[in-house]
Amino acid sequence: MYFNEEHDALRSMVAKFVDKEINPKVDEWEETTTPLHELFKKMGGLGLLGITYDEKYGGQGLDYWFDLVFLEELGHIKAGGVPMAIGVQTHMATPAIHQWGSEYLKETYLKQAIAGDMVTAIGVTESGAGSDVASLKTRAVRDGDSYVINGSKLFITNGSQADFVTLLTRTSDKPGYHSYSLFVVPTNLPGFQVSKKLDKLGRRCSDTAELFFEDMRVPAENLIGEENEGFIIQMKQFQHERFYSLPANYVGARDTIDMTVDYIKQRMAFGKPLIENQVLRHRLVDWITQIECLKQLTYHIVRMKMEGLNATKEISMGKVLAGELGFTVANGCLQMFGGTGYINESLITRNFRDTRLTSIGGGATEVMKDVIARIEGF
Ligand SMILES: Cc1cc2nc3c(=O)[nH]c(=O)nc-3n(C[C@H](O)[C@H](O)[C@H](O)COP(=O)(O)OP(=O)(O)OC[C@H]3O[C@@H](n4cnc5c(N)ncnc54)[C@H](O)[C@@H]3O)c2cc1C
Repeated sequence: MYFNEEHDALRSMVAKFVDKEINPKVDEWEETTTPLHELFKKMGGLGLLGITYDEKYGGQGLDYWFDLVFLEELGHIKAGGVPMAIGVQTHMATPAIHQWGSEYLKETYLKQAIAGDMVTAIGVTESGAGSDVASLKTRAVRDGDSYVINGSKLFITNGSQADFVTLLTRTSDKPGYHSYSLFVVPTNLPGFQVSKKLDKLGRRCSDTAELFFEDMRVPAENLIGEENEGFIIQMKQFQHERFYSLPANYVGARDTIDMTVDYIKQRMAFGKPLIENQVLRHRLVDWITQIECLKQLTYHIVRMKMEGLNATKEISMGKVLAGELGFTVANGCLQMFGGTGYINESLITRNFRDTRLTSIGGGATEVMKDVIARIEGF
């Protein structure tokens, strides 16, 4: 109904890539870390890191339905840390450069990110500023042709492998939101330091790090958009980040259900397969009904994006649903696996651990609800 042969061709290309280049390796990457330069180089070669971006910078210049197809297929990856790393590259750290960056920034950084020659990270969160982004303390001070940056960022995905960080800093003491600026910060300049990969509950194959900036001089031309307008730009960039989480979530949840159905069809208890218990079948149906609701909301958001409409409320609603649904399904399916589901070598335990993040990262559920309430005028 929504897709033509060109969408199908992209879907099959991404599906093949996931089956051949990602899923066979995720068990190993969970133990080590996803090698992002190697993975992104392959994806860049296939044009997968710039689906909607301008062809001038190596993108494919395709519309949001193609983007949706791409993100849906990432939902089949059997470790949540991999789509998150890819999402940082395509939907979290680069949209602002594409939309507000100078020609220099697009030529020097966006092009390399789309080609997979540079790994990117998005640096917003700090130890004292997570949900409350405006309380961040990292500061950039203009000095001649440079900005001098001091501060630190916490929980940064792709952080220890990144070639540049799209970094939100304070640039003025004035109260209000027009006191922050967004920069492209190359990690090979003096004054940059990165911690070792942080040890996490889930998404263990993803590289999450703490970044430090000490008297780091960054050329003034690395400013994205206008000075002091970075907060507003980042809030807009967050819409891409939050949208990215929807398709992978409903696709991943459906895969989890299918895997669970396969298991409870053959698992015998009290003389019959578990699937023959109506209570379990109804629970599964409740979840696939909610999955369909999230999918249809996502398709509605794509239609809004295609029309150039502001979908902040709908994306926030989708993020709330995705965060709750993904974990509810993983947790409920783990219950159906019984003791087997509690053993680390089964995929359901990884799904349980990995899905816990969606309602926290990139805008916690409560923050999303505040956004929706504000738009509704409550
Ligand atoms: C694995 C991982 C990867 C991440 N990757 C990145 C990254 O690449 N770049 C980046 O910048 N950040 C990243 N983050 C940070 C993430 O976005 C933050 O953790 C998130 O925004 C929440 O901030 P916080 O952890 O400081 O929680 P806090 O702000 O301390 O909030 C704690 C909890 O309080 C509740 N809460 C918060 N505000 C309200 C409110 N107004 N009303 C009611 N309840 C509320 C929420 O339940 C929230 O979970 C990552 C985090 C993790 C764990």
